[in-house]
Amino acid sequence: MAHIDDSLKAALYRITCPDSATLGNFHLGLLPEDATTQISDHLAICPHCVREIEQLEVFLAETAVSLQPSTVERIKVWIAKRIPSGGQTGSMLGTPAFAMRGGDTGPLMYEAGDAQLSLEVQDDPEHPGRKSILGLILGVATESLEVKLLKQVVVETAVMLDATGNFNLTNLPAGQYELIVSGPTIEIHVQALTIE
Ligand SMILES: [Zn+2]
Repeated sequence: MAHIDDSLKAALYRITCPDSATLGNFHLGLLPEDATTQISDHLAICPHCVREIEQLEVFLAETAVSLQPSTVERIKVWIAKRIPSGGQTGSMLGTPAFAMRGGDTGPLMYEAGDAQLSLEVQDDPEHPGRKSILGLILGVATESLEVKLLKQVVVETAVMLDATGNFNLTNLPAGQYELIVSGPTIEIHVQALTIE
C-alpha cells in the first residue's frame, strides 16, 4: 500500500510540475526571469523535478562528450583549385618576379578556401636531375603550418612554413605528388601535382 500511496503522491505532485522541456530550458538558463524564479520555488518543494534535473544533467554530460566536434571536424579541409597564372591574383601574389625568370613556365597558382598558393617547380641546382618546389601561401595565418609532399600516400618530405608563408622543397625526383599544407585549423590539399 505504501507503494501505491507514493505513486499517487508523485502523480499529484507532478500535476503542478513544469514539463520536461521547461525544466530543460530552466537548467540551460534559457527561461525569462519570472519563469526562472517560479521554477526555483517549485524545485524547493518538489523532489521529482529535482530528480528530473539531476537526470538531465547526467544526460547532458554524456551527450556533451559526443557533441564535441572531433579533431577532423574542427579542421577546414580545402582542396586547392588550379587557377591560371598571372592575372589579378598573380599580381596580387607578386608573381611577376617569378614569371620573369627565363625559360620557366611560371608558377602554378592555386586557390584553396581563403588561401592562395603559388608553387614554382624548378631544377634543383644542388641536386642535378632533381627538382625543387618554391612555394608561397597567402591568405591564412602561416604559423604552425606544415607542408608535406606525398607520393602515393607516402610522405616524401615535410617542412614548416616560414613566417612570411614561404617554403622550399628540394631534391625531388620527377613524379606525381600530392601536396598537403596542414595546421591546427586548416588543411589544404593540392592533388595531382606533377613534377617533371
Ligand atoms: Zn515538480
